[in-house]
Amino acid sequence: MAKKYYELTPDERLAFLNLADHVKAELHDQQSINNEQIIENYISDFRVPMGMLKAIIIDAHQVNVPMAIEEPSVIAAANNGAKLLNSGGGVVVDMPERTAMIGQIMFNGGNFDTLDQFVRTHQKELFEIAKQTKPSIYKRGGGLVAIKTRKISEDETSIDFKIDTKDAMGANIVNTILEAEVSLFAEFDKQILGAILTNYATAQLVTVSGNVNFAALGGREVAEKIVALSRFSKNDPYRATTENKGLFNGIGAVVLATGNDWRAVEASGHAYASQDGHYRSLTRWTIRGEQLHGELTLPISVGTVGGVISAMDQAKNVLDIVKPKSADELRGIILAVGLAQNLAALKAIAAGGIQRGHMRMQYRALALQVGASPKELPMLVSKLKTMSQVDATKATEILLEMRK
Ligand code: NDP
Repeated sequence: MAKKYYELTPDERLAFLNLADHVKAELHDQQSINNEQIIENYISDFRVPMGMLKAIIIDAHQVNVPMAIEEPSVIAAANNGAKLLNSGGGVVVDMPERTAMIGQIMFNGGNFDTLDQFVRTHQKELFEIAKQTKPSIYKRGGGLVAIKTRKISEDETSIDFKIDTKDAMGANIVNTILEAEVSLFAEFDKQILGAILTNYATAQLVTVSGNVNFAALGGREVAEKIVALSRFSKNDPYRATTENKGLFNGIGAVVLATGNDWRAVEASGHAYASQDGHYRSLTRWTIRGEQLHGELTLPISVGTVGGVISAMDQAKNVLDIVKPKSADELRGIILAVGLAQNLAALKAIAAGGIQRGHMRMQYRALALQVGASPKELPMLVSKLKTMSQVDATKATEILLEMRK
């Protein structure tokens, strides 16, 4: 009997795609036995460039942070922002004493008061079920921390389980515990919609802050413009979206490099950005004395173990560079990079336009796009830098000229 598609080997799947031999060979060369085990219908790895944020001071320690991202200029900007924050003493991290994931059992058509009463009278059993279901997380000092009944609407209720998952991101741990908890709600069976973690990680709210002297920014005027831009992005969702995108350039690059779930971090961040019903930027910049002061608060779920982190050598290697002692420490590091990234972007806008610096970095990508070889690249890039208007047609023209 013919194999089902998901039963084929990666090369057998490639054979289906009617590819030129060199494309097939390249995809084959980038296969890894390890990653084939991680996702379904695997054909090849998809590489993303990784570069360094060299030295950001966080809670008085210098940290080197790899960033995985395809967008030119992000890493240069992160280094620039980190230098500015370092000159003001570095980033300070503030977080709850105990961070935790939240899981929901969702009810429809039920009565909030009845469910709330049920949860109050069955606390002991609910805590016991969690302990029986995942004893290993209790051995590590984690486990169920609190249960809360939350009214969503007249006929919708959520029972929220706050679970400390220690150094794991915890999605699977939470879902496993929730599925066991559901058994206690047998009498409400018809009203149960389902049970799953929430990615809105409000029990993992972390704040990072830092200062920059006016002189390092190029004067008080630049600082004041940054403050005005920050206020603007609190009020205008168009500006806020772009500002938060820039922030996630830094955050997402570290989340990805450490093998964490960037979709979870982004979803949580955007939900927090609209917590009062209006989408706003996530950072705040103000003037404090003779310094610019920046703050970023974000709910962030990441781990240093579990998920695919422990299965992917590339993530383990990155964690070996960063050396976070815990998932909580990693949360602070990721947000510190975000704050540096945001500062660099705001400074570039405030001090005369972001496109100039951005385009300089884009030239390399453009040179590659028009077919420059590694040998031709430096000369083409330096020629492009001298031009006031640059596009693919112009770059091709110069490249052909160079080859004459
Ligand atoms: P795991 O299921 O791998 O759980 C982590 C495991 O790591 C624990 O069970 C624990 O096993 C082990 N561990 C070792 N050391 C520690 C430590 N110090 N602290 C805590 N645990 C430790 O992963 P997660 O539960 O973290 O789930 C994350 C994955 O789930 C991600 O890949 C994510 O993409 C995915 N996911 C995300 C969803 C979402 O975001 N909506 C939904 C579903 C999945 P033990 O104690 O037994 O040794």
